[in-house]
Amino acid sequence: MNLDDFAAKLRRATDIVFFTGAGISTESGIPDFRSPGGKWTRMRPVYFDEFVSSEEARVQAWQRKKESYHLYKEVQPNIGHTSISDFEKRGKLLGLITQNIDGLHSRGGVSDDKIVELHGSDRTVVCLSCRKEFDPDEVLASLGEEFTSPRCDACDGLLKTGTISFGQPMPQAAMQQAQVWSEAADVFIVVGSSLVVQPAASFPVIAKQAGALLAIVNREATHIESLADYSYQGEIGEFFRQLNPLLADA
Ligand code: NAD
Repeated sequence: MNLDDFAAKLRRATDIVFFTGAGISTESGIPDFRSPGGKWTRMRPVYFDEFVSSEEARVQAWQRKKESYHLYKEVQPNIGHTSISDFEKRGKLLGLITQNIDGLHSRGGVSDDKIVELHGSDRTVVCLSCRKEFDPDEVLASLGEEFTSPRCDACDGLLKTGTISFGQPMPQAAMQQAQVWSEAADVFIVVGSSLVVQPAASFPVIAKQAGALLAIVNREATHIESLADYSYQGEIGEFFRQLNPLLADA
């Protein structure tokens, strides 16, 4: 299927689901993790059990957060984020499932009730014991050059950013909503994901098995490319610059 045919399908579709990964935010200046030189090719992640059991691991995780936080705060949504919000304006967006933690989809205009953040969000800090939430600006400002890991002011529990670490249980309500949308989608569009992080990467397969038309937009082929009805291997910004004029009257 070529881009014109795909655009024709989108004009007729009513329940479109987007599934996004780190690749949609690279054009906003946030590096992804698995491209050459990406974070996980340079450093090992802190696993959840290490965070809970080791002060050294917690300090390492917070130190990394301190170093990257300013980047996440200053970035702006790009054409990928705003193009997806245009689908909501046209009344065609059933839901948006994202692996991203950067909050750029809401800042790009998608309503909160249309977004599922499978891996949580960097915009909050949570106590692992009593679930009290904190403003990341305040928690990070409280960490000096040398610091011990921050604690909850209500119960002294461990504070952690609202993101889901490797080995941490997935948020159940988010997983259920993503499942429902995947099964109900008439078109399911993957944008900017290597599709290697499970269980998130199972949703495109669930959607395809439930009868959705599956599209994959990514710089390189993913391991499920053979399942895709439409695939675009290239830059995400370029894809939307070509697609959007074809949807103008959709
Ligand atoms: P990933 O890093 O595994 O894969 C990103 C994919 O996007 C790669 O295949 C890459 O080639 C492609 N890509 C990058 N920029 C692109 C562009 N401009 N145009 C087209 N393709 C492009 O990302 P993932 O699958 O989302 O998994 C990474 C995990 O790390 C996720 O769980 C996510 O929570 C987290 N993460 C989030 C952010 C963020 O919130 N922005 C950033 C890095 C990592």
